[in-house]
Amino acid sequence: MKFFFFILLFIAINVSAQNRADILIRNGKIIDGTGNSWVYGDVAVKDSTIIAIGNLKNWQADKIIDATGLIVAPGFIDVHTHIEDDEIKNPFANNFIMDGVTTVITGNCGSSHVDVKQYLSFIDSLHISINVATLVGHNDVREAAMGMDNRAPTNDELNKMKSLVEKAMQDGAVGFSTGLIYTPGTYAKTDEIIALVKVAATYNGVYATHMRNESDSVNYAIAEALNIAKAANISLEISHFKVGGQQNWGRSKQTLAMVKQARAEGLDVTIDQYPYTASSTSLNTLLPEWILADGDSTVRKRLQEPDIVKQAAGYMLKKLAARKLQHFSYAVVAYYKADTTLNGKSIEQINLLWKRKHTATEETKTIIDMVKNGGASMVFHGMSEDDVKYIMQYPFNMPASDAGIRKFGEGAPHPRGYGTNARVLGKYVREENIMSLEDAIRRMTSLPAQKFHFKDRGLLREGFAADIVVFDANTVNDLSTFQRPHQYSTGFKYILVNGKLTLNNGVHTGARNGKALYGEGYIK
Ligand SMILES: [Zn+2]
Repeated sequence: MKFFFFILLFIAINVSAQNRADILIRNGKIIDGTGNSWVYGDVAVKDSTIIAIGNLKNWQADKIIDATGLIVAPGFIDVHTHIEDDEIKNPFANNFIMDGVTTVITGNCGSSHVDVKQYLSFIDSLHISINVATLVGHNDVREAAMGMDNRAPTNDELNKMKSLVEKAMQDGAVGFSTGLIYTPGTYAKTDEIIALVKVAATYNGVYATHMRNESDSVNYAIAEALNIAKAANISLEISHFKVGGQQNWGRSKQTLAMVKQARAEGLDVTIDQYPYTASSTSLNTLLPEWILADGDSTVRKRLQEPDIVKQAAGYMLKKLAARKLQHFSYAVVAYYKADTTLNGKSIEQINLLWKRKHTATEETKTIIDMVKNGGASMVFHGMSEDDVKYIMQYPFNMPASDAGIRKFGEGAPHPRGYGTNARVLGKYVREENIMSLEDAIRRMTSLPAQKFHFKDRGLLREGFAADIVVFDANTVNDLSTFQRPHQYSTGFKYILVNGKLTLNNGVHTGARNGKALYGEGYIK
């Protein structure tokens, strides 16, 4: 009898030891990230890891989350962000957390820290609320090797760039990025980029590109990106895939066909997209690129010369006419450091505020004056909803914010930094049926994880990192708008980052459990 009692006790201890989790998410509809249909089930988390999934009725946990009626999915991975310099200002990364994002890839559009080792250890020492991986950016590598010069590199300079890329890949970058509309990257010819992308390919990196053009010459730009990837034998990510400029509306059918064709021919190419009809970038991009060479003081000097101002104005007016617009009404200031009261106003409005004549020619002067005063970040309203949706239907397209960590209330930034994923899940999945919920989640989770080789993220699987989102598919919505950008998405209830509860019943807990994620070339 006594013996029997001990056996019972042994079993009881054993069962309780086996079936104990830190956090148990019960009764949710599990969407695992593969694209498969939802199933009912529970998820158990211990430390930073998912330890069990399924019917876990007999399990116990310190914290039990009732997910009845809610979706349980892997944390979203945002492959296209720019968080540099904002990590310290807001390590809670609220705008990402409140939109379901648990991992970001930064260093996009050719802009990154060149010293990736230092950057990733900074991320680990700072402790922010999301995981961070980085690309190494061509523009910064080029500037480090040869300044802002508008010319081809010498052999020595090219070798310097190659060794910087190699070092960055060994330090844990997940790939190489270009921003070919920005200085000084825009001065690079295709062969320079191929040479550098080949280095990233050696370390199994990805080539992510903000292409040379996203409007009139977009097909040449896509062709260049595809050729680079083919020549370097690398996996290609075309960033914020779009067709800009009113005159180009409808061309997404051609441009997406090029991507599909390249895949059919064996090139590993995927795309990402922010689900909005406006873009956001620097005011400088309105000016011809040759004016922007050699650094700020030279640019300012150039813009004092009447002849150059005239050429710049002519260039801008021609582009405006191509859009079939009378005014720079489509160009709205997000953040103008020299005078923040102008944030949220269009160039047309600012020109009138400055008591200038209501003509496009006067507006070009306003633009040039603003560039001379330090420039501005802008929102440009120039895409068609039909193109956005057509591109969105492509199954190997991932939603990505192209945003930084927002400082709540500062400036008039593009709403994509707050609402990208909620907008896809609310507007495009629930309301407009562009894709199924399961497919949207696949593109937010396992597709980016596969692309960037995050081997234990992007799926709900035993042994995987416990990055988990719990949300209400019936109410998830983006609230951020161009007029009132500083509004968090709704519908996200619970979020775990590496096993730590970071969103609890819709409220950020203050947890900062994200970490740096290293690429495959990483050498300790
Ligand atoms: Zn970009």
